[in-house]
Amino acid sequence: MRVLVAALLLLAASSHGSSPLSLERVIAYGSSYYQLNQWSAFSGFQLRWDKKTGFVELSKPGMRVAFALNSRKVRINNQNILLSLPLLVRGDNVMISSVDAQTTLDPLIFPRTGGPDVKIVCLDPGHGGRDTGKIDKFNLEKKYTLLLAKEIAIRLKLAGIKVVMTRTTDQTLELSDRPEFARRKGADLFVSLHYNATSPGVRGVEVYCLSPAGVASSNDGGGRAPRGSNPGNMQNSRNILLASELHKSILQNTGLEDRGLKRSRFEVLREARIPAVLIEGGFMTDSMDAAKIYNPAFRKKMAQAIADGILSYKRITSSGSSSQALK
Ligand SMILES: [Zn+2]
Repeated sequence: MRVLVAALLLLAASSHGSSPLSLERVIAYGSSYYQLNQWSAFSGFQLRWDKKTGFVELSKPGMRVAFALNSRKVRINNQNILLSLPLLVRGDNVMISSVDAQTTLDPLIFPRTGGPDVKIVCLDPGHGGRDTGKIDKFNLEKKYTLLLAKEIAIRLKLAGIKVVMTRTTDQTLELSDRPEFARRKGADLFVSLHYNATSPGVRGVEVYCLSPAGVASSNDGGGRAPRGSNPGNMQNSRNILLASELHKSILQNTGLEDRGLKRSRFEVLREARIPAVLIEGGFMTDSMDAAKIYNPAFRKKMAQAIADGILSYKRITSSGSSSQALK
């Protein structure tokens, strides 16, 4: 019987060999779900569900995926990632939304390889000119995003990558000009750099990529939303992989707190037709983060982490080796 189920699951496999697009789907609350036990068997994971605590874990050598029921947060190895919909319990089954399986888990667990090489990277220092970005006393976000971009550019060039920057001076730029600039320059990736601000005590790094069609953004609470597709959604699988490699590298190399890999519909992400991410590299309003953001030595460390994340993405997507993805 088990063999038969496995055979049926294999038959159900989609043509690119990763996403179980034809696995049995269940509609609940207007969204489509897979049974997590079927999906995890298909994806080569052991499933453990502790019904008392609500803890759900998928594991296989080198990878651990931990969910909590009723939460959109999933932990993949040491990264916090925000799903669009929490897991759902139906009878004796845990269900995962098909949008999260297809646009978050699949692209990270089975990264698409053999893609075009990354030769040109567009760095986008947030804000500039009349647009100061966030303000902390006399410190302006626009100054620190540009300083960071220049440090990243040095490191990418040393690694043989051509860098184009949406601005190299304190210049006002429209949001729509930024992805358009990347397109004109023939860039392969778009990386927008920002710093955050809110009440004191909130700290940590956030890495964003574009929300999939049909769901709300992470900071709007996730869930279903009548939102259509944007040009950036053509790169859904690459967007999340690039965001994940950057997020992972920043966490490993800087010690910044992890506020998660999130989804948003920032204009620069909506309009980018190449894999694109937006990094919020800490909070200017938090004394611990601010001390790092304004510190040249820490900025170099952050720049190296971002350059390393880009290089890791380049290795995975262009080498044909998929085993690197979530170490
Ligand atoms: Zn900003």
